[in-house]
Amino acid sequence: MNSSKTSIQFECETGNYHTFCPISCVSWLYQKIEDSFFLVIGTKTCGYFLQNALGVMIFAEPRYAMAELEEGDISAQFNDYNELKRLCHQIKKTRNPSVIFWIGTCTTEIIKMDLEGLAPKIEAEIKCPIIVARANGLDYAFTQGEDTVLAALAQRCNVVPTKEEISGINPNLILFGSLPTNVSKMLTYELTKYEIPIQGWIPTATYRDLPDLTDQTLICGVNPFLNRTATTLMRRKGCKLISAPFPIGPDGTRGWIEAICEAFNIVPKGLVEREKQIWKSLAPYLALLKGKSIFFMGDNLLEISLARFLTRCGMLVIEIGIPYIDKKYQAAELKLLKQTCDFMSVPIPRIVEKPDNFHQIQRLNESKPDITITGMALANPLEARGLNTKWSVEFTFSQIHGFSNARDILELVSRPLRRNENLTQLGWFKLVKDQNDQTVAKV
Ligand code: SF4
Repeated sequence: MNSSKTSIQFECETGNYHTFCPISCVSWLYQKIEDSFFLVIGTKTCGYFLQNALGVMIFAEPRYAMAELEEGDISAQFNDYNELKRLCHQIKKTRNPSVIFWIGTCTTEIIKMDLEGLAPKIEAEIKCPIIVARANGLDYAFTQGEDTVLAALAQRCNVVPTKEEISGINPNLILFGSLPTNVSKMLTYELTKYEIPIQGWIPTATYRDLPDLTDQTLICGVNPFLNRTATTLMRRKGCKLISAPFPIGPDGTRGWIEAICEAFNIVPKGLVEREKQIWKSLAPYLALLKGKSIFFMGDNLLEISLARFLTRCGMLVIEIGIPYIDKKYQAAELKLLKQTCDFMSVPIPRIVEKPDNFHQIQRLNESKPDITITGMALANPLEARGLNTKWSVEFTFSQIHGFSNARDILELVSRPLRRNENLTQLGWFKLVKDQNDQTVAKV
């Protein structure tokens, strides 16, 4: 048997790839935590990025702001403590948040600004919790920004003794990961059907409602990029992690519910039928996608879960690029990927951690996939060279979790195919010259 079919091979490249800066997480987290304010402490570069990446949101008086560092801050002529205190006072006066998040950036890392040291002092003075998250572009990619914020937030959860502690084992469940409210409600509903005792979510809609933890708390993540949050909850708060695939696609959602039920010794009746029903409803999309090849350039850490689901849909995944992979936290997801490949009788795709976009483009030229999932920097240039692309960032902002949202994933993936099929009829498919080609190719 081919060795690539029997085990997952990981490769690592140079890390020379496009992704969003992790400070972008403020855009969805300030909306999720309604009584929060995010202060990004960085330079104009960070400000420009946020302003451009978040599009029209910036006109809606968002609850985030930049503390722009100046020459004097960097050369330590100004006093960080006084400057930050002044800003936080102002935020408290004008917005009255229940919590202020300080988002560290590359510059605060490089000049070694002691944010963790300053925060408790200013917190005591202005009487408003200040939480520090180092969501900088030096250490992290895109969605990992949320992970740094949630890990810092998790530290603020109280560990309380329960009366059940006296009477014996009475575990409860905390789910972590920021999802739109209707999606988190839907996942909660799926679990309550099986009488799983859900204590709460991290994050909550308001900081004040942050759930308490007990020494019986089990935790489970909904997204593959939350390994630091999981580690913080385990190491600092004594919670136990349920290793589960992520609830993306009907297969992942079923696996996620099953793993949680198993941890609570519950048999999830009717779950297999539920999954079958969803697959049936996806039939028109499956017919379109079956046999098509797909290439993930990798920039948001959702890649393995999406690739696993699309493999199950009958697609052939050529490469899974991914910025970072925590093999322990993603163990159940990787196991399901392997099972899915075996089930579909396809080889396990190559997984490339910290990919190199230049090398990936060579591989794209060789493999010519039907769809390439990539960022906005490369999407248009690849389209002009005749490759169908889908912007990866849309998977981060769309609702992709749970049974009912599986359809939305396939809608996103198949859209470029459907659109370009129509355009091909016009005769223009490839709009730039190949290196060896002297004429503009018209297919
Ligand atoms: S990568 Fe660093 S400098 Fe650039 S926007 Fe992000 S935090 Fe700011």
